[in-house]
Amino acid sequence: WEKLTLHQKNNDEISQMQQAYNAMIERINENIENQDRFVSDASHELRTPLSVITSYTELLQRRGKDKPEIFDEATGAILSEAERMKHLTEQMLLLAKNQGQESIYMTPINISEMTREVVRSLSTAYQREMKFSQHTTNDITISADRPKIQQAVYIVMDNACKYSDEEVLVLLKETDDHIYLSITDQGEGLAEEEQKQIFERFYRVDKARSRQAGGTGLGLAICHQIVQLHGGNIRLDSQPGNGSTFTIELPK
Ligand code: ADP
Repeated sequence: WEKLTLHQKNNDEISQMQQAYNAMIERINENIENQDRFVSDASHELRTPLSVITSYTELLQRRGKDKPEIFDEATGAILSEAERMKHLTEQMLLLAKNQGQESIYMTPINISEMTREVVRSLSTAYQREMKFSQHTTNDITISADRPKIQQAVYIVMDNACKYSDEEVLVLLKETDDHIYLSITDQGEGLAEEEQKQIFERFYRVDKARSRQAGGTGLGLAICHQIVQLHGGNIRLDSQPGNGSTFTIELPK
């Protein structure tokens, strides 16, 4: 899209219109660029599992009939790459669906109970010590889209378990109008340059490690999007070698 240049001089109204129009064009161009980048990154991500599937299928066709040991290896790899593609496409769909205020359905939710539930399920899944505490004696209720917030909280806590081996601490605080949910791990932490990109789609510090843990590089982008849809924020405090604290801030 082209920007507009008008040549009338000393006409405030026209110059204001030109500025507003050009700001809009800039936003449209940014969106188009963003979408182009997403399509190209997504195609790239899908190509890797697809080529593994293709090579193993070719191997099965060539040698699968005479060598039964190849059968197990090939079908195992094909299945796990197909699962990866399924997870990736589900996450991409989520990002596409979670756009715009109309995609959230607000109800009162007990955020303390919901957080305890996620803590329980992850500490069982990872067999990991996780400590939940809150600054109030009573449970805290906020207005939010429960499945979406639960997913955002799950992603951050799941990462804390995936990328560290020690105890994970979860702390819930409230002020008059906001809640703050902090998830602290004692993992490797992140350098400043990495922190800047951490909420971008498909960004991974260590691609191999994320891939091994079943990651897609979309989790934190989804989380960021959900929190922003609620008018909230997500922050990261971290130092290399000293663990990370992700804090989700939501209006009540
Ligand atoms: P993934 O599916 O790869 O986990 P995310 O978007 O959830 O994608 O996270 C992006 C990247 O950020 C991860 O691949 C990992 O490198 C890094 N990361 C996320 N959480 C943590 C954490 N708690 N400690 C260290 N690194 C993390």
